[in-house]
Amino acid sequence: MRLFDTHCHIQFQAYKEDRAEVLDRSLEKGLMMNMVGTQKDTSKMAVQLAEKYENIYASIGTHPIHLHSTHVDEEETSFQSREENFDWEYYADLVRHPKVVAIGECGLDLFHVPKDMTPDQVLIKQKEVFIDHIRFALEFDKPMVIHCRDAHDQLIDLLWGFKKEEGKLPQGTIHCYTSNWEHARQYIDLGFYLGFTGVITFPAKKTDPKPQEDLLEVVRRAPLERILIETDSPYLTPQVNRGKRNEPWLVEEVVKKIAELREMTAEEAALTTTQNAKRLFGIA
Ligand SMILES: [Zn+2]
Repeated sequence: MRLFDTHCHIQFQAYKEDRAEVLDRSLEKGLMMNMVGTQKDTSKMAVQLAEKYENIYASIGTHPIHLHSTHVDEEETSFQSREENFDWEYYADLVRHPKVVAIGECGLDLFHVPKDMTPDQVLIKQKEVFIDHIRFALEFDKPMVIHCRDAHDQLIDLLWGFKKEEGKLPQGTIHCYTSNWEHARQYIDLGFYLGFTGVITFPAKKTDPKPQEDLLEVVRRAPLERILIETDSPYLTPQVNRGKRNEPWLVEEVVKKIAELREMTAEEAALTTTQNAKRLFGIA
């Protein structure tokens, strides 16, 4: 069964010692990967990897956490993000590469707010830059890879607003989807796909099981033709390896969980999610 990890970052520092070995472990399993850029240099590196390996594709864009310098602390890494804007000319040059399949990751993030700023201040810039990405995706006819953390209501408002005013929206995926069915339903109505990560394999928090129950409800109810699988490597390692650095081939854990929740075979879930990814990214 051929799996498509629709969102990973093997160009990141976390793999600087053994990048080739990590990629080989996944490529040997026949995996296809979307290497996702988060700013100028990681976008360019994603394109370089896509150029080198047949089954690797690239996405290019500016992640909202890079719009303001802030301390970022993920499960497995900790870094100070560099401040950067969306550089249309720079990305316009990269997007001409035939293996660039999407624009992003871009979006809204109210989880990482610099100490000296209010969420509203952060959102002004994030919205402006996200709209640049939407226009860029429309201009170059690419789907989007969208990041959203703690800002789904704002993102959904923005997307509906853009669609109403301009009469169009690009296609895209809401990467690492972790919210509830109400938000999911709106994204589906807007034409988007939902990307699920290893988070769906995590046990519910005993003290607060509701978020995980809500998420699994989405995995069960979302239309099968709108589901994508991803690892978000190096982050969000599935439960079996939790605490260790993630690798793209572990996306098989996500497929297994989807199959279990939807009472289908893993082969069926793999086949459909791979077809979905190829359709969205325009891969023959
Ligand atoms: Zn990511």
